[in-house]
Order: sequence, then structure tokens, then C-alpha cells
Amino acid sequence: MATCLVTGGSGFLGSHLCDALLARGHRVICVDNFDTGSLANIQHLRGPDFVFMHKDVTEPFFVAEPVDFVYHFASPASPIDYLRLPLHTLKVGSYGTHHALGLAKLHRARFLTASTSEVYGDPQVHPQPESYWGHVNPIGPRGVYDEAKRYAEALTMAYHRQQGVNTAIVRIFNTYGPRMRPHDGRAIPTFMRQALQDKPITVFGTGQQTRSFCYVDDLINGIIRLADSGIHQPVNIGNPNEFTLLELAKAVIEITGSRSEIVYEALPTDDPQVRQPDITLARELLGWEPTVALREGLQRTLDTAGAAALMGTLPA
Ligand code: NAD
Repeated sequence: MATCLVTGGSGFLGSHLCDALLARGHRVICVDNFDTGSLANIQHLRGPDFVFMHKDVTEPFFVAEPVDFVYHFASPASPIDYLRLPLHTLKVGSYGTHHALGLAKLHRARFLTASTSEVYGDPQVHPQPESYWGHVNPIGPRGVYDEAKRYAEALTMAYHRQQGVNTAIVRIFNTYGPRMRPHDGRAIPTFMRQALQDKPITVFGTGQQTRSFCYVDDLINGIIRLADSGIHQPVNIGNPNEFTLLELAKAVIEITGSRSEIVYEALPTDDPQVRQPDITLARELLGWEPTVALREGLQRTLDTAGAAALMGTLPA
């Protein structure tokens, strides 16, 4: 049994990670300040092997017991959140990552940071392999998130090269599943909420921009495999099946049996036109690939979270 510290553990991905680590017999220390996470996501986690610490990672924090793994997931992640919290997002990526790395160094723990496909920006290479350095607008509104994550990657590699910390970087592509907040602004919970209420589904631009959506269980499985490996280089984890936003809207309408119509709204600034992970490295190094197809994952989200929770009228 290992002791795993999960920052951002009460968020969407962090809470699924806590579930999966506990299910594998590990002890979990969950650190969160509830900026965008919630108690509802972790209230089912009781017992001697689950500990919650209410901490803001932008301040130094210490853990008295030995720690074997640090999974650093704390960060605003949805555009709605990081546009509302631009300075905090930069602080979490910088100070927060420093503190989490410092803790890993102190405990000689394996450190894994949750990076993002946003480090590729609006990519000029398609699909995106880890060797692609990206095309990011540092001064646009999304720059606070993209650059915070790029800085966090640089910091992680510096702690590895200079301080000898055992680090890993996962570049996460769009992920969905139960516990996404209905109003967090991301495409799948927004479309599901609108469809379940038979309200117009708001697609940005022409809806021809693409995304590749990974079901949360697949992602968490890939992340734990990466943490358990000795790999230090960044690894993409995501589902390479690519859909236009219009195709996604139609799939959500079909699965929910909705009478919603599709309406078009202005494209946000610097919205990437394409997004598709090249997962050759994950396949070769981790023996990992996603197994849940989009329609199946949408159905599971609907079944697990429940329509009322997805509409925001009940906690998921
Ligand atoms: P989320 O908003 O649900 O979770 C983030 C968690 O971090 C929340 O519980 C929040 O309260 C916590 N947090 C934020 N600032 C904090 C601070 N200063 N101190 C302590 N806790 C803090 O988002 P998510 O989708 O679960 O994303 C988790 C991580 O994965 C983030 O680092 C995000 O950048 C990364 N990521 C997610 C996706 C995705 O598709 N969900 C894609 C790429 C990368």
C-alpha cells in the first residue's frame, strides 16, 4: 500500500483519482481549497485510509506522515474558472506547483503533474505528438491557463534535472464523465444540461472545430499507469477519436432524447480549431489506450450522474 497525496482531490478528475487509488488499496491524502471542487465529490470517501486537508496550494503546506506519490491536480481548469480567476490560475501553476514539488522532494515521492493539451495552443500540427512545442498566445485571455501549465512543466523538469525529483507529466486532453459541474462552461456538461431541459444547444462558431473526448475512467487508468512507470517525459493521455462540436451536440441530443434545437454563438478568443492527441507514446510506453467510445461514455455519464444532477438541480 502506498500513500498518495492528491492536490485538487475534490474536483472532477481529482475525486475520480481518489476513488481509483483507494480501490487499488492505497491510502489517500486529498488536499483542496474548494475553489472549483466540492465536498459532494468526496463525501462518499470515508474510512481510515482517506484524509482530507483543507489547504490552498499557493501557500506552503506540510504533511506529517510519509508520502510515496504526489498527484498535483489543483488548478482552475474550465475556461469559465480561469477567466474569472486569472491571477490565481497563474499562482496555482507557479507557487502551487513549487510547493507540491517541494513536498515531493522532501518525501522522496514520485511526482505527477496534471498538464494539458492547452500547452499546444491552437496547434499547427495535427494530431499533436508530445514533441510538438505548441502555438500559444501568451497575452490572450487564455494565456493565464496555457502559460501557467507550460511554466509548471518547465518547473517540473527543472526539479527533475537539478534536484533529482522523480517526476512525471501527463498532458490531459478533454475529459468528461460524472461530477462535471453543469455550469462549468465545458461543452459536454453544457450540452447535456441544455438537452435535458429541451433548451437550445449553444454551439460556438460553425461547430466545425474539433475535440477528442476521453471518458474519465480511461483517463484515470492511464494516469495511474504513468505514475507507476519510471517515465519523466510528458505523455499525452486522451481519446484520439475526433468529433466536431456539431457532431457532439447531435450525439447528446440523440442520447438524451431531447427536443432541443442547435443555435450558433460567437467563437471565443483563441479557441483552438482542432484537438487530437497522438497517443503513440502512451501505447508504446504504458500499454494504454482508451476503451470507452463517445456514445457509451455519454450514456454512462447520464446513467451515473443522473439527469437532475446534470441539470444542476441535484448534487452528482
Ligand atoms: P476541477 O476544477 O474540477 O478541479 C480542480 C480542483 O483544484 C478543484 O477541486 C479546486 O477546488 C482545486 N483547486 C484549485 N485551486 C486550488 C488551490 N489553490 N489550492 C487547492 N486546491 C485548489 O477541474 P478538473 O477538470 O478536475 O481538472 C483537474 C486538473 O486536470 C487541473 O490541473 C486541470 O488543469 C487538468 N486538466 C483537466 C482536463 C479536463 O478535461 N478535465 C484537461 C486538461 C487538464
